[in-house]
Amino acid sequence: MSEKKSGNSERRSVETILTHHGREPDDQFGFVNTPVYRGSTVLFKTLDDMVGQKQRFLYGRAGNPTTQSVEAVITELEGAYRTRLVPSGLAAITIAVLSCVKAGDDVLISDSAYEPGRSFADGFLKRMGVTARYYDPRIGAGISALMQPNTTAILAESPGSLTFEVQDIPAIAAAAHANGARLIVDNSWASPLYHQPLALGADLVVHAGTKMFVGHSDAFAGTISTTEAAWAEVESTRALLGFFTSGDDAYLVARGLRTLAIRMKEHHSRALEIASWLEAQPEVVQVLHPGLSSHPDHALFKRDFTGSGSLFSVLLAPAPRASVAAFVDKLEIFTMGFSWGGYESLCLPVRLGANRTAKPWTAEGNLFRLHIGLEGIDDLKADLADAIARYSAAR
Ligand SMILES: *Cc1c(COP(=O)(O)O)cnc(C)c1O
Repeated sequence: MSEKKSGNSERRSVETILTHHGREPDDQFGFVNTPVYRGSTVLFKTLDDMVGQKQRFLYGRAGNPTTQSVEAVITELEGAYRTRLVPSGLAAITIAVLSCVKAGDDVLISDSAYEPGRSFADGFLKRMGVTARYYDPRIGAGISALMQPNTTAILAESPGSLTFEVQDIPAIAAAAHANGARLIVDNSWASPLYHQPLALGADLVVHAGTKMFVGHSDAFAGTISTTEAAWAEVESTRALLGFFTSGDDAYLVARGLRTLAIRMKEHHSRALEIASWLEAQPEVVQVLHPGLSSHPDHALFKRDFTGSGSLFSVLLAPAPRASVAAFVDKLEIFTMGFSWGGYESLCLPVRLGANRTAKPWTAEGNLFRLHIGLEGIDDLKADLADAIARYSAAR
């Protein structure tokens, strides 16, 4: 947890926040980085110290200087009241949703939302007496018509990380607030560098820190940043469920954050370059990248985002499974796997079926999700051009 600082830090650039925030060399014998703190027990000198609970740390489960070094940076970037580091992006989603509901409540979830979040809602939440309904990610202000008296939370992910619909966050926030509900936004794709949902009316912002914050595919983390009004429930839910992130993992997040600005800039421009190059390649039916002028939500994207992430999808003309295998099995630079956000490029064939209910996915053809990493751009294009040629030949 970290206090939002006022004053000069309000005016600092994101690059300076990322490189200077959340570390106090004077407290660390002058060493630049806050080291890995490992610890459960925190010692008290006197009975008064223990009972008075005035020390900065009381017990390791509530955090340590390493976890706080991350929270301070994200709080500043998101313009939040406070931030909590949690063990994964999925934990960020589940804690955020649980902080808004009780038995008998209802939540609305974007049909494009991260799939394990859906499973949590359909399984766990249902067992707890909370209903979950799904909405068309392009619904905008129309979400008002779906609000019930017992709807207490909306979970949005903008853009959706498989199909890349951009959501009208201000309109959805207004509908939520008119109903006394809270809006949670998964902001993993753009990062707080390019999109700040709290400023657009959201109440909670979650990140899969595993992706861009860590940046090297070597640790799990999540963050939850909130307004002042939403904070207490998030912190008590996290504390009561016993979630804690180790100093070792927190250190990797803090280390990744120091270079987030230059990495995002590279991912942004490389992904856009490959996306627009792909638009002109054979077999390509559509490239789903909100930064392209051909994208149906491009106007909304330009209104609410200042840059784009590493991730987008490409839809290839219908072809049998053998073509999909021919595309991915012989890739030389791209590799195949879940997750994204590392320095290495990834390609994931996507099958959308049962996980779309409010707005079924009807596009014909094969969808591939690409994460554009930091390899040579011509090598990436050559790898994709070869893959497309194999896709055609295998038909
Ligand atoms: C990966 C991902 C998550 C979950 O993060 P984990 O750290 O893998 O639990 C949540 N939201 C989005 C958009 C993601 O891509």
